[in-house]
Amino acid sequence: MPSLSAQTPIIVWFRQDLRVGDQPALTAAVQSGAPVIPLFILDKKVAGNWTPGAASRWWLEGSLMALDKDLRSRGSRLILRWGNSQEVLESVAAKTGASGVYFNRHHEPFFVEEELAVATALEQEGLMCRRFGGGVLLFEPEMVRTKAGGQFRVFTPFYKACLVSKEIKPPLPEPISIKAPPVWPDSEILTGWNLRPSGLGWTKGLCNHWKQGSDQASTILNLFLEKGVRTYPEDRDRPDREGTSILSPYLHFGEISPRQVWHQTRLRSNIRPDLNKGSNAYLRELIWREFSFHLLHHFPKIADEPFNPAFKSFAWKDDVQALSAWQKGMTGYPIVDAGMRQLWQTGWIHNRVRMIVASFLTKHLLIPWQDGARWFWDTLVDADLANNSASWQWVAGCGADAAPFFRIFNPILQGRKFDPTGTYVRKWVPEIVNLPNRVIHAPWESGIYVDGYPRPIIDHRLARQRALNVFKNMRTETERLR
Ligand SMILES: Cc1cc2nc3c(=O)[nH]c(=O)nc-3n(C[C@H](O)[C@H](O)[C@H](O)COP(=O)(O)OP(=O)(O)OC[C@H]3O[C@@H](n4cnc5c(N)ncnc54)[C@H](O)[C@@H]3O)c2cc1C
Repeated sequence: MPSLSAQTPIIVWFRQDLRVGDQPALTAAVQSGAPVIPLFILDKKVAGNWTPGAASRWWLEGSLMALDKDLRSRGSRLILRWGNSQEVLESVAAKTGASGVYFNRHHEPFFVEEELAVATALEQEGLMCRRFGGGVLLFEPEMVRTKAGGQFRVFTPFYKACLVSKEIKPPLPEPISIKAPPVWPDSEILTGWNLRPSGLGWTKGLCNHWKQGSDQASTILNLFLEKGVRTYPEDRDRPDREGTSILSPYLHFGEISPRQVWHQTRLRSNIRPDLNKGSNAYLRELIWREFSFHLLHHFPKIADEPFNPAFKSFAWKDDVQALSAWQKGMTGYPIVDAGMRQLWQTGWIHNRVRMIVASFLTKHLLIPWQDGARWFWDTLVDADLANNSASWQWVAGCGADAAPFFRIFNPILQGRKFDPTGTYVRKWVPEIVNLPNRVIHAPWESGIYVDGYPRPIIDHRLARQRALNVFKNMRTETERLR
């Protein structure tokens, strides 16, 4: 193994950990006393079918700018390169005389494969590769085990096991300064990567809604802890209120770490015990995130295949028109349409509404969950392989610990319960803005049809019965094959 001379640079390879605080790989490199070369590689091929979608690429651009700014304020900078990760790392190491590459462990199957290949190749070249845990999750997936030593498939015991698991380490402090190498390697120009989709005018909505970067993530977290966390248990299901933290894209891109969120939340509720109930409910959601990663780690095919294999024979429909109506927010069900339009205009949807729109697609329209997950993948700014796949499978009834298939959300009742005054649907479906509250979630039931807004593309009662029949057939078929 090569020795680290104080003057030989270390490359820190950034991916979905775009921050300087609580950054295990960066901290270790800085602490070694060596000059550090922060590097981000745009490797378009590594993720195969799961290359980042349009909204994620848009987010990434802002995120990389913010990280570069944070590095520059510490005497460093972000080097950008395009191409095959292994080749780029080798070439940057050769050009700069770097002796090692440090990176945080990621859990998407393509990153796992890539890390192994890169580490093997670089070590053969005589470079030291160090891979760090703790950069993406609170618990490494192998750390949380059933009593029999296996992996969890059900959330509640997983949650309990996390709570009694080892202490969650406090976040690592931000380095005050980062030693620069004597000569910087070449960097590409970020805008030259064309990460922002041109045309459509679509990104205008995203620009109006979001500001990337760790500073912004901290501001949002602080505001949420100040104003939102106390009422989180009651408000988290209400899309008509600002009841959740809206940190998901920041967590996905690693602009804030789950340890930072965890400890900040705990710290605040230690000072203010009235926040305890809300904090516990909030941190439980972070453990849902851990659970998704646990599943992806142990069952890496969940992005493409149903966790429950019986669903391989489910008679999904190939209905291009219905899929398009759903994507455009033109199904005639206001709560579904509001969600799909919120997604298109802002790149984000409230969790309750994600469940409603996903249930509508998979159960009312019988369209495969994979088609929905793909659309989310392209349009969500927080598109995340673990959370998106596990959540779609959960709603569709085919996932681990999934909602049973026969629990079919009624979009009218869901609307009335979680958006009782229609504030949310009026915001996103302006065609129905003038309807009174009592009819807003199902105007057709009162004989009201609004110009320019569609009638329901399918009757709820019929759709429900159809879905139950298809499910019954699948179960009969599964029994027959046993
Ligand atoms: C069909 C469907 C698809 C989804 N796709 C994604 C996705 O691609 N990326 C994504 O981050 N989340 C996804 N979720 C989970 C959840 O909807 C979002 O994480 C949440 O709405 C983000 O908003 P927030 O940050 O305000 O959440 P908060 O309520 O403030 O929760 C804090 C954090 O906890 C995590 N979290 C919250 N709820 C869940 C959950 N149910 N499962 C896993 N983690 C959770 C998120 O990281 C979130 O940022 C999906 C849910 C559904 C039903």
